Amino acid sequence: MEDVGTLKVEALARRIRRMNPLVEIVACSRSITDMSTCEQDELASGVDLVIAGTDQFTAQAAINEMAVRLEIPAVFIGIHAQGSGGRVVWTIPRETGCYRCVAAERYAAAENQNPDQPLDLSAMVGCLIDGQFIDLIALKVAVAILERGRDSAYGRFYQRMKGRNDILVRCHPEYEWGRLMWDALLADLPKNPKDYATELQAEAILAMDSLWLKGAVDPNCPVCATQRPQRAQVQRALAAYQAGRSNQ
Ligand SMILES: [Zn+2]
Repeated sequence: MEDVGTLKVEALARRIRRMNPLVEIVACSRSITDMSTCEQDELASGVDLVIAGTDQFTAQAAINEMAVRLEIPAVFIGIHAQGSGGRVVWTIPRETGCYRCVAAERYAAAENQNPDQPLDLSAMVGCLIDGQFIDLIALKVAVAILERGRDSAYGRFYQRMKGRNDILVRCHPEYEWGRLMWDALLADLPKNPKDYATELQAEAILAMDSLWLKGAVDPNCPVCATQRPQRAQVQRALAAYQAGRSNQ
């Protein structure tokens, strides 16, 4: 109750200070979409990680462009329908695709916006337990990104992720997208001597689970493709080599 009426950034700063008074916090209560690129650069230059805790598409797109421009790793957290599920996307410039590559369908939906289907789900009310489960997965990824390259538990976890940067989280059996994903993944399981997929769905998996998928990399992405000159060079060299071989 003590946070009611306080800006989120200030309430969060207060909470972090209470947990660890040694942390230095600069709370900035401005909309990222209202800031010029210079202001964004000033805010974010030198930071190790950006966490986009917003469901607003225009803010996510602005944060993605900023993260790519400044070459900062970023974690995007999305909580879907009443917290029954969600999606965590993480990006590292030059290593993974950017948010636009991974969540291309959100950009397509923004371009063909249908007034009956709002892109931004405002004030998505759900159970705190489900929201926190999705946030905890994002937090695990955030720590792994910060520990990458180190021989620590989370550094090794980062290696084990192998670039799987599109994480689908199901909190509740009613989460339709999660069920579709599981159906697709389990579809190839043998039907003999028993129907393994049906048995898993009915007896083993239910809720609080996650799928860790490798997000798409769009070679022509208008946001991050120019950041991948080396990859493009390698692709061009490979294409030239293959063309030369097929001519022989
Ligand atoms: Zn991209």
